[in-house]
Amino acid sequence: MAAVQAITVLGATGSIGVNTLDVIARHPQRYRVFALTAQRSAAALLEQCRQFAPRYAVITDAQAAQELERQLPAVSPETELLVGEAALCEVAAHPDADIVMAAIVGAAGMPAALAAARAGKRLLLANKEALVTAGSLFIAAARDGGAMLLPVDSEHNAIFQCLPADERGRVDTSTVDRLLLTASGGPFRGRTERELRDVTPEQACAHPNWDMGRKISVDSATLMNKGLELAEACWLFGMGPGEIEVVVHPQSIVHSLVQYRDGSVLAQLGQPDMRTPIACCLAWPRRIDAGVQHLDLVGVGRLDFEAPDETAFPCLRLARDCIDAGGSAMATCNAANEIAVAAFLERRIGFTDIPALIAGTLDRVEHIEPESLAQVEDIDQQARRVASELLAVQPHTVGAA
Ligand code: NAD
Ligand code: MG
Repeated sequence: MAAVQAITVLGATGSIGVNTLDVIARHPQRYRVFALTAQRSAAALLEQCRQFAPRYAVITDAQAAQELERQLPAVSPETELLVGEAALCEVAAHPDADIVMAAIVGAAGMPAALAAARAGKRLLLANKEALVTAGSLFIAAARDGGAMLLPVDSEHNAIFQCLPADERGRVDTSTVDRLLLTASGGPFRGRTERELRDVTPEQACAHPNWDMGRKISVDSATLMNKGLELAEACWLFGMGPGEIEVVVHPQSIVHSLVQYRDGSVLAQLGQPDMRTPIACCLAWPRRIDAGVQHLDLVGVGRLDFEAPDETAFPCLRLARDCIDAGGSAMATCNAANEIAVAAFLERRIGFTDIPALIAGTLDRVEHIEPESLAQVEDIDQQARRVASELLAVQPHTVGAA
């Protein structure tokens, strides 16, 4: 084995970040932490610096930075503190970082993930919004930069594991008939649109199988997560949305499947524990211990599958329409969704207002074929502005044009 590999964890204090550090801590002979980043969780970042003594700690929020500045020298004297968004790209593209885990939530994580792609890193991609908003630029950057792009999202990791790949992780889908993307259905599976109107952020964040950050938990509840994942799968595997079927599988044991031309269907199964796909990406093509419990199939008992309900959960259909439209539509959809989810979490709008706000924003933002990161960022900003205006005017009838 090569020397110990240095890892930058972008979004270290989040759900994926913490799980990543849990796996890394099990293999000190293989991995060491090079840089850790957070937005404003100073206390959590400080504790991680105490444990992992990284070369850099990055915090983007200026106020949280003051607390770190005071305390970091005593806790981890060898760690240098960097402040601000530009530092995220710096530690992502740093020549001394071998591996980058991109686990910031939202489009905010895109510039740093892109920087890692351009710098040719082994890039563990959890931040699906980066690919959703800037897919073609992102894939081109990874290719041109010589990056090894490994999908952390459990469904995409499952598909990756079921496909043949070369030594750089580039998959061969030439004999694939279609991909089957599984979805848990979230905490509200089986409810009607009417029954969804009064659900609370706490209920939406109480996912039956996965313990995740609040934004992706709401996305799972609306099925927008599956819409984002559909786009993510199209970019990662070079498939059209018509070649990918979404199947609701409430137990979250089968993480996704690949159907081949000859009728064979390969699936990857496992506990709903993100340490499995994280460990897979860290060590690929090798396998390392991830601290994950054995799968007890008898205990699970049964595996169910059903079609998604796109009437009660229109976000999946909205996303599919945007993927079909191409260009900037998915970036607009993603930005509007981020605004809508934040407003729902702040109790400013109801759960069923989320798709309405996204649809209203899509009607009002121009559609372009972005050719640069600046153009993608411009559309993202436009969509956030329009969605925020819609929210301010008529918070509960945001869909009405
Ligand atoms: P989280 O909210 O738990 O953590 C987000 C992390 O990003 C935190 O460290 C936070 O400090 C940082 N962050 C947030 N906003 C930032 C900003 N504007 N600038 C800089 N840093 C910022 O989120 P999570 O659940 O860990 O999800 C992270 C990403 O992984 C998301 O894109 C999500 O869709 C994807 N993902 C998560 C899971 C999961 O199980 N949690 C599964 C699959 C994919
Ligand atoms: Mg997923």
